[in-house]
Amino acid sequence: MISGLNPPQLDTVPLQNLYDFLKPVIVPSTSPEAKFTNWAKTFVCKPLAVFEPTDEFQCEVILAIARREGKVVRAVGVGHSPSDLACTNEFMLRTRHLNRVLSVDFEKRRVVAQGGITLNDLHARLDEHGLAMINVGSISDQTLAGIVTTATHGTGIHYGVMSTHVLSLTLLLADGSRVNCSRYERPDLFIASICGLGSTGLILNIELEVEPAFRLREETYSRPFEDIVSKIDAVARSAEHARLYWFPAADSVRVSLLNRTHEEKTSNGSWVWDSMIGHHVLQMMLFIGRYFGIFNLWATHLAAWLVSADSIGVDDGYTKFNLDCRYLQYTTEWAIPYENTEACLRELHHYFREENADPEGARTHFPIEVRFSAPDDIWLSPSNGCQTCWIGIVQYKPYGFSVPYRKLFDGFEKILARHQGRPHWAKAHPLLPEDLRKLYPDFDKFIQVLEQVDPSGVFRSEYIQRHFMGKLVDRRAFKARRT
Ligand SMILES: Cc1cc2nc3c(=O)[nH]c(=O)nc-3n(C[C@H](O)[C@H](O)[C@H](O)COP(=O)(O)OP(=O)(O)OC[C@H]3O[C@@H](n4cnc5c(N)ncnc54)[C@H](O)[C@@H]3O)c2cc1C
Repeated sequence: MISGLNPPQLDTVPLQNLYDFLKPVIVPSTSPEAKFTNWAKTFVCKPLAVFEPTDEFQCEVILAIARREGKVVRAVGVGHSPSDLACTNEFMLRTRHLNRVLSVDFEKRRVVAQGGITLNDLHARLDEHGLAMINVGSISDQTLAGIVTTATHGTGIHYGVMSTHVLSLTLLLADGSRVNCSRYERPDLFIASICGLGSTGLILNIELEVEPAFRLREETYSRPFEDIVSKIDAVARSAEHARLYWFPAADSVRVSLLNRTHEEKTSNGSWVWDSMIGHHVLQMMLFIGRYFGIFNLWATHLAAWLVSADSIGVDDGYTKFNLDCRYLQYTTEWAIPYENTEACLRELHHYFREENADPEGARTHFPIEVRFSAPDDIWLSPSNGCQTCWIGIVQYKPYGFSVPYRKLFDGFEKILARHQGRPHWAKAHPLLPEDLRKLYPDFDKFIQVLEQVDPSGVFRSEYIQRHFMGKLVDRRAFKARRT
């Protein structure tokens, strides 16, 4: 009997017995699930084995096999990272069945949940208890561990990235030991793990600070780029959660201001934008834009016009935080020190105008998303040490077809880098250890923790090898064909 053995005992069990024990949770190699494709269908991998454990002990056994066979284990949530962050050629541990809420404490405003729970499920469970997450990004499809390990952010100049709401973690380390960590217990491991990209260990449970359920009142208006950029500080400070959607080819910016309210729910969507008609018309225009670039610009004008009306709407907080991210997309996003926001946006404005005016230039899609976050002390958080402005760019893949994006993104990245930009960890970026060390004062403390808790590199996937260890792992190694 294997059940109940501790990690050193597991190391003495014949390998075949360990595999036999895991048989029910090994995805058959003939199943489509044995291959991993990220949400945007931009990166794919075919791991040696994909495990879908249903309990923690099975995770221990997977690690025991990995140690024995010298394999990497990559945890994966729902694969929404736009880069190859979740990819591996070795062992993939999919967390879809590790998705329970373990406890909710209304008085203390805390929830403990397994790392594989999706935010959508967590919102529903919290709602039953009159609680809600404090801040949420554009979608709620991700897993809780996925957002924590990548320092996923929403918006709000006084609100930190979502990892700042984590109170403690239970981790399964490479040696099979289970440890708790928090700001008071193994603080280095904790700080490393709340933006650790899955490299410190497998996150089993997350204790999260939450708040009483709330509604948000959203006020939106659209104005020319110049009107907004010239008073960007006032706009960013004009709401608890301010965000901007910039339509470069239309030279307009839609401002969305969210504040907590007790008002009744009212809707404020644009019927055409929200309906299938708007969805398909825009997508068709972007598709034709693959052949006739001018259609991309017309699509941007149409989209900007569809959402241009001033509006006010009220809904549950998590509903208002989220939005329709439309179509599969290439994307990248960088964080810059807040004080560089205006200068950076102006430089981007110039760049996009030149590209769109040049017959051979890149054609921008929409929107450029501009958001804000408060400073934090998490070693690898892009908001580390400074109030932050996040600027994200997308180029859609209409009907899943590829569009040119590399040249546009290269120019975008150069501008963001000039403004001391730090890339979003979940989005593809070119930075290597020597670059990251300059951007993150505590980069080496992070590496030290990795060496302590995982000296043999069980959790060092290809992405970690490339960006943290400086190993030559091609950025295009997992690139999906046709993209
Ligand atoms: C349409 C869309 C909208 C988005 N909106 C935002 C946004 O508003 N703000 C923002 O900041 N980001 C945003 N993102 C990025 C997204 O939040 C992150 O990529 C997030 O990590 C995705 O979660 P996931 O569950 O899909 O994780 P995956 O992509 O599956 O994995 C991401 C990382 O988490 C690690 N991981 C997952 N589970 C565990 C575990 N149990 N233990 C240890 N490590 C684990 C993986 O190893 C990997 O390193 C968006 C992405 C998309 C596609």
